[in-house]
Amino acid sequence: MSDCIFCKIINHEIPGKIVYEDDVCLAFLDLSQTTDGHTLVIPKQHFNHILDVDADTLSHMIKVVQIVAKNIENKLGAKGFNIVSNMNEIAGQSVHHFHIHIIPRYNESDGFKAIYTDRSNEVDLDKIYTKLVD
Ligand code: 5GP
Ligand code: ZN
Repeated sequence: MSDCIFCKIINHEIPGKIVYEDDVCLAFLDLSQTTDGHTLVIPKQHFNHILDVDADTLSHMIKVVQIVAKNIENKLGAKGFNIVSNMNEIAGQSVHHFHIHIIPRYNESDGFKAIYTDRSNEVDLDKIYTKLVD
């Protein structure tokens, strides 16, 4: 028996408000509901994070993200989405079973803040680029 809370939801050991299920993955409402309809898409197989997941599972999951998001758009009237996956504690991952957050957006003050700091004046873009492509 797994200690992983998401594996427990998959195995119906604890309840989850499941909005989509197939052989590969599951989508269910996040308890925190950052915004109405905040949903998690998870693979049925346990992977710790995005870099561990095989390509077939990952590509299937992104299709499911699209299906689930379209349903939220239709039924809850979402105006847009932030699609997010946190990897490791440094990035805020608290449950170490890979998951993709679907965070519907309704207005600019609906509770979710995506913060992108602009450091363009402080960094050497050429240096970073060269390291990545060399
Ligand atoms: P992370 O912080 O790892 O990116 O996201 C984990 C998410 O799982 C959080 O948004 C948290 O609210 C949600 N979560 C944690 N435990 C449970 C649970 O037992 N049931 C549901 N539905 N969501 C959970
Ligand atoms: Zn798990």
